[in-house]
Formats: sequence, C-alpha cells, structure tokens
Amino acid sequence: QTIGECFDAMVARQPEHEALVSVHQGLRYSYRQLQQAARQLASALLGLGLQPGDRIGIWSHNNAEWVLMQLATAQVGLVLVNINPAYRTAEVEYALNKVGCRALVTMRQFKSSDYLAMLQQLAPEWAHGQPGALESGTLPHLRSVVWIDQPGQGEEVPGLLRFSELMARGRSDDPRIDRIAATLKPIDPINIQFTSGTTGFPKGATLTHRNILNNGYFIGEAMRLSPVDRLCIPVPLYHCFGMVLGNLACLTHGSTIVYPNDAFDPLAVLQTVQDERCTGLHGVPTMFIAELDHPRFAEFDLSSLRTGIMAGSPCPIEVMKRVVSDMHLDQITIAYGMTETSPVSCQSRTDTPLDKRVSTVGQVQPHLEVRIADPETGATLARGQAGELCTRGYSVMQGYWGDEARTREAIDPEGWMHTGDLATMDEEGYVNIVGRIKDMVIRGGENIYPREIEEFLYRLPQVQDVQVVGVPDQRFGEELCAWIVVKPGQALSEDEVRDYCRGRIAHYKIPRHIRFVEGFPMTVTGKIQKFRIREAMKEQLG
Ligand code: ATP
Ligand code: MG
Repeated sequence: QTIGECFDAMVARQPEHEALVSVHQGLRYSYRQLQQAARQLASALLGLGLQPGDRIGIWSHNNAEWVLMQLATAQVGLVLVNINPAYRTAEVEYALNKVGCRALVTMRQFKSSDYLAMLQQLAPEWAHGQPGALESGTLPHLRSVVWIDQPGQGEEVPGLLRFSELMARGRSDDPRIDRIAATLKPIDPINIQFTSGTTGFPKGATLTHRNILNNGYFIGEAMRLSPVDRLCIPVPLYHCFGMVLGNLACLTHGSTIVYPNDAFDPLAVLQTVQDERCTGLHGVPTMFIAELDHPRFAEFDLSSLRTGIMAGSPCPIEVMKRVVSDMHLDQITIAYGMTETSPVSCQSRTDTPLDKRVSTVGQVQPHLEVRIADPETGATLARGQAGELCTRGYSVMQGYWGDEARTREAIDPEGWMHTGDLATMDEEGYVNIVGRIKDMVIRGGENIYPREIEEFLYRLPQVQDVQVVGVPDQRFGEELCAWIVVKPGQALSEDEVRDYCRGRIAHYKIPRHIRFVEGFPMTVTGKIQKFRIREAMKEQLG
C-alpha cells in the first residue's frame, strides 16, 4: 500500500471521527475533512507545475499545514523534504541544494526569527519580485516559495505565495490526483529526512512509502493504539519522531493527532492533555522532565493518559518512575532507531516489565532482523557481547540522496544497515545501546566505552554534565579525555576527580586529560557532537 491508499481506507471506515486537533491554531479536522484539505492542497501543488518525484521542502514548526503537506505530497508522489526550523541560511541552502528542491513551504516568522528575510538573504532577487531570476542565484533549483499565513500577518510579499492563496487554487475533486495515485508504488521515494549531524554533516536519507508507513503501523501496534486514542505530539514534525512515531502511528490506527503548540512548551502540553483528554504523550526524556518539574504540574488532571513513547536518548530511572506514577503513563514504551531506518528498529511494548523499559530499548520490531556484529570481522556475536547493531528489513532506507558511495558504506550487499551504534542483546532479545562505534576508545588494546565512564563520573556530586572522548596518544594509541561541567557554585579539581576514580574503576579507564568547561558543542537539535570535542583536544595537545 501507499500512504494515500492506507489513509483513504481509514477515511472510508470512519469519515466523521476526529483526525487532527491543532490546539495553538484552534483547528479541528475530521478524517474526511483532512482528506478533502489534503486533496485540495495536492491539486494546488500540481498547479505550481510540480511533477511526481519532484522535491518540495517544508521548513516549519508544528502546525496543521505540516501534516496536510505530508498527506498531499504522498497522494501525488512528490518527495517531501523535512527541514529543521532551527536551521539558518547556510544550513537551508545546503539542504535545498543537496536534494534540488523545486518548491519550499515555510513560515513567515517565528519568535525573533524571520524566515522570509533569511531566504531573501540567500536570493536577493526576490526583494524585486523576480523569482524567475533565481536560476542564476544561490538556490538554482527553487521555483516557488509559499509562506504559511497566520491571521494578522497582513502584507503581501512580492514574488511569494501565501498558503491560503495556494489552497484556494486547488480542487479536491481534481481528476489528476487519482490518475497519479494509481501509478504510485510502495517502493517510490516519498520523503527525505536529514540525520541530526551528531557525527558530522547531516545526510539526507531517502525513505519510501513502504519504509515509513510500515514503521508507523508497527509503532502504533506496540502502543496498542485504536480510534479511542488521542495522542499529544509535542515533538517536532520535521523529525521522524513527530511525522512517523506521531502522525503515521495515529493515522494508521484511526487515532486522533493533537498538537499542543508550534514548538515545545511544557505548560501547553499539560493544559492540552487535560483539556483534550489525551490518552498518549510522546517526548524525549528532557521534555518529560520539564513537564514533571513545571511549578504548576499538580494543577492538571492527567488521568486520561495511558501510553506514549520516550526515545532519542537513554532515560534515567528516576524520571521513568515519576512518568509512570505521576503522569499515569504506566503503558509508556521506549524506542530506539535512526533516521536511516524509518526510524524505529527496537521498541518495548505496553506490557514490557518496567525494569526492562528502563534498562533496555525493548525488543526487535516485528518483520525486522537485528544482529550484533563484531565491528572488525563482521561475524555475529554471542548474546551479551557488545558489537555493532545491524538491521535488515522493510525499514532500511533506499539510500542517501545523491550519495552512492555513502549508501554503499552504510548498507552492505546483503541488505544489512550498519547503524554505527554499539549494542548488546540479552537471552530474551532485549537490546541495550552501549554507545557509538565512532566514540569507542581503544587504549593500548583495551576497548573502552565512554558511556560507562560518563555514567561513573556523573555520580560525583559536583558534576553537572560530563563527556568522555578518545584523543590520540603516542604511547597507547589513544587516551581518555573528560570534559566536565561543574554545578554552579561548586568547585572540583583534576586531582579530586582522579582520587575518586582510583580503586573504583580500572586504572586504564581513568581519564588522562581532564578539562573543566562551560558547555559542549551541539547540533541544532541539541545532540552533543563529540567529534568537535576531539578536534578541539587535538588542537590543544598539538
Ligand atoms: P548523524 O548520523 O548525522 O551523525 P544522528 O545519528 O544523531 O546524526 P539521528 O538519526 O537523528 O541522527 O539519531 C539516531 C541515533 O540516535 C542512533 O544511531 C543512536 O545513536 C541514538 N539513539 C536513538 N534512540 C536512542 C535510544 N533510545 N537510546 C540511546 N540512543 C538512541
Ligand atoms: Mg546517525
């Protein structure tokens, strides 16, 4: 099935059921209304001269227009390109040109960021209302720019189209839609998502209907979603967490999508869960912490909650306990994945024992294969041993857009995706993520996992945050280096850190280099870039 066929079947089953609530926009759509609007938009996009296979970018925070774009592009075979709203001019230029976007849908303004001004900086021709002149500029593929207009954003922008104007040009009964839809195949590319750029430059992963539709379906199965469920989605839609674990998991189960806000705001989440009687809630661990620690937390009735997904990074045990007891999320699930695998490979289920939900990322999803391979020889390792997590099945991306060489590095001839993550699998099939291969340190022949040292150093009461990396060393090949952020008002010396380590961990795991810092280099999504720490140390150490 294609995404369009699956959605149409759900609309036929329950046309009047609520499909989408965008709280911050005051919008509500039934399944039928969402289908009508998506078809109208698809028709209008064809009217811009776009053809199946053409790329169209969306550079926006969460709103109803986002999911309309997701459905409209899937209906007529356009490839939606997710662009992080935190990206600035250089990053947007890279993303748009990398995949040759012919059109872009964006916001006008968000807080102090002026998106149209950023585009005009890249393509000054627009200021004169001459988008035709773009061919010679810095965005040679781009033909049309549409801005999502909100009430009160009055004046026109020369050369650019309002979203409402675009919609008005489309017809939901446009015969071209069904004609094109009939030619689409599940293995057609439908979406390009960029990786976070934690280990280098973001890569554009090309995903098909089959990739993300199946993944969304099995994610919803693990959560036991049904039409009675109303899922609060405060995670970003440009990321697979929002568009697959959120939107597609809901739409494949006839559930209701609820957006509390355009960007994360803990108060809006608490208010929305209460007012909309949400049964599910997604988030990364830091979001759940912000909600639990909100000064007005106790005022809200969250008793409707049942399930959700926590993913993206490991969850501290204390947080999990509070999520279960104080937020009623006793059926919350944990997921592990990466952009290149649609994303989820492993997930716990609503009835997974709590200790397993805290200590592992669950079991392998149905119809996917996972094996733990020796990073050097490629041989499958015994249960309990740490190696590279490799996965195979419907979820593996088609490839990196326009990058054959990188694709061949990531996916081997037998179809295994090499994730670059180090993991173990226990006798019952529960998977534990140990770290990233690129971060593993080999000191004098001993393999050291920085995660283990980081968790050990966290236990020092003065430590607020810590990152451990390997740096080149003449004698041992590599040595450990710790960057430590000390809690405000506290003091810590190198000797104190070493004294604490001595006798508690093996001598070769004690960091040779220790630096006290204010913070760490991060991606725009807030993931720490260890490669930049390594680069900085190489420079310092000469
Ligand atoms: P890049 O590939 O550009 O360096 P990235 O790998 O961080 O960036 P994503 O695809 O957004 O980009 O993130 C996937 C990675 O996030 C996984 O490979 C894994 O390292 C980490 N990850 C995801 N879920 C979990 C989880 N539940 N627990 C621990 N780590 C996780
Ligand atoms: Mg990655």
